[in-house]
Amino acid sequence: MPSFAFFQGETVPLEEAKIGVMAHALHYGTAVFEGIRGNWNEEAGQLYLFRLPEHYRRLLKGASILKMKPAYKAEDLCNITVELARKCQLKEDIYVRPLAYKSSQAFGVRLHNLEDDLLVIIIPWGAYLDVESAHCGVSSWHRPPDNTMPPSVKISGMYVNNAFAKTQAIENGFDEAIMLTPDGHVAEGSGENIFILAGGKLVTPPTSDNILPGITRDSIITLAREELGIETIERTIDRVELYNAEECFLTGTAAHLTPVSEVDHYKIGSCPVGPFTKKLMGLYFDVIRGKHPGYMHWCTPVFPE
Ligand code: PMP
Repeated sequence: MPSFAFFQGETVPLEEAKIGVMAHALHYGTAVFEGIRGNWNEEAGQLYLFRLPEHYRRLLKGASILKMKPAYKAEDLCNITVELARKCQLKEDIYVRPLAYKSSQAFGVRLHNLEDDLLVIIIPWGAYLDVESAHCGVSSWHRPPDNTMPPSVKISGMYVNNAFAKTQAIENGFDEAIMLTPDGHVAEGSGENIFILAGGKLVTPPTSDNILPGITRDSIITLAREELGIETIERTIDRVELYNAEECFLTGTAAHLTPVSEVDHYKIGSCPVGPFTKKLMGLYFDVIRGKHPGYMHWCTPVFPE
């Protein structure tokens, strides 16, 4: 199946979307990106893009932090993405990767006086953390504080921090890393937010604890409250609270909702997937595949209905 990209204002075959070796973003990481899922619904014969406008709003906010002036509004980018996905004709789960980047062929560390451009790539992509439940390791790589590099913005260069943590976790035999704040509180996974169930309450670190405020995190907070009547407390979490959690799971566009069954070899709860996590997963997967009538406003269909 041919893949296409939206590149320099046009839709082109993926292999034709090429940038020069002096592109500023390549050398200095001066880009912001998004990850968006398209979820295939077999019965409906439809591909649903999950929370598309929210992802583009976050991308444009990030682009503005990097002093870019993209030529597109969130609404334009949603339309471009739907058209691109239609052209790709993929009838399976997909991943959309928009990237706003400093495109000038220029050296020199700075954000100002540089051109920028925006591209969108679509690929077929199944499971990211391909495990029933994840064994996680707390990383020795910390999440940077906002005044070092803002973790609330998906800046390409910052993801070297996440890559250090992820590879360390894999080399140590874990599935995923859990990163702490510089003062030792739980922040997030290398590409996911984290939740625990403690004392029957759902708890997740606040946005001030060096996390990316995930769109999946927001979806889970909403679903837990609206559908299961459980409020989420956003508060600082200590590492030992992870070890003692009744249940624990990660959330992210790529990883969806992935249960965590071990942290640093401490077993979480009594079974690989806790009953509350199981209930929430069922709900979440119905919602993202456009099978829950109450949340169709989060799902943008790719093909004409
Ligand atoms: N934290 C980090 C560091 C991430 O890269 C991601 C993935 N975007 C998330 C959390 C989850 O965010 P979202 O649910 O918006 O994908």
